Amino acid sequence: MENTKDKVVIITGASSGIGEATARLLAQKGAKVVLAARREDRLQSIVKEIQEQGGQAISFKADVVSSDDMQKMAEFALKQYGRIDVLVNNAGVMPVSRLHELRVAEWSQMIDVNIKGVLHGIAAVLPTMREQRSGHIINVSSVAGYEVSPTSAVYSGTKFAVRAISEGLRKEESPESRIRSTIISPGMTETELLNTVNSPEVQAMAEHIKGLAISPYSIARAIAYAIDEPEDTGVNEIVIRPTAQP
Ligand code: NDP
Repeated sequence: MENTKDKVVIITGASSGIGEATARLLAQKGAKVVLAARREDRLQSIVKEIQEQGGQAISFKADVVSSDDMQKMAEFALKQYGRIDVLVNNAGVMPVSRLHELRVAEWSQMIDVNIKGVLHGIAAVLPTMREQRSGHIINVSSVAGYEVSPTSAVYSGTKFAVRAISEGLRKEESPESRIRSTIISPGMTETELLNTVNSPEVQAMAEHIKGLAISPYSIARAIAYAIDEPEDTGVNEIVIRPTAQP
């Protein structure tokens, strides 16, 4: 893991699930990780465990919906570690439901966290990465960013958008400033994401989904692979799903 060691990696949504697994794995591989999320107590205990195992980690309380929080998070990382090599835009919510249920507040929340949160992350780090003439932005989409099922219209819409934004970023920045852009699209993964579901229809399927789900470390390993490839190699897109997931 030569190209990962000492890299400064900011991870949003690092208080649980895929973000937490990614922070732990990258720290093991010698990266300096900056964990961001809203639940500060969770972040602090993960950071403490990483440090006890000899890793380098710090945390910052940030809501991705707040552009101001995201700017401050990037400033904090720069002040502590002097540069920003990678941003993993991972924070996300999935309160899926059928459109006729008219859960308008949940639609807005998904758009705010899953789309605007990613844009706020890009805005927070892009000037620094352009100045460095190097950097890597990894955006977590989903298998739902390729296919739509009943109940996933809005969630899928946000994850299609994440892929469009990532591809736009790649086309604009990679040839010019050498900033790499990667889309990571997980299938069913064993995390707390189902806790954000309120639709009784989807809650009824939760046990089936949990039965299929793979470890968040499967996704973390894909993220680590994209980071570790040499700087002249852009890993643009990886889809990882349980073997048994159709
Ligand atoms: P978790 O619920 O375990 O993690 C979600 C993370 O996002 C938490 O750390 C949470 O932290 C953070 N988060 C949520 N809202 C905000 C916010 N407004 N500001 C900052 N952080 C926020 O789920 P996953 O690990 O599964 O989710 C990670 C990503 O993976 C998401 O983008 C999700 O859409 C995607 N994904 C997951 C799949 C799965 O099956 N699990 C499948 C496909 C994609 P806190 O509450 O402390 O702020």
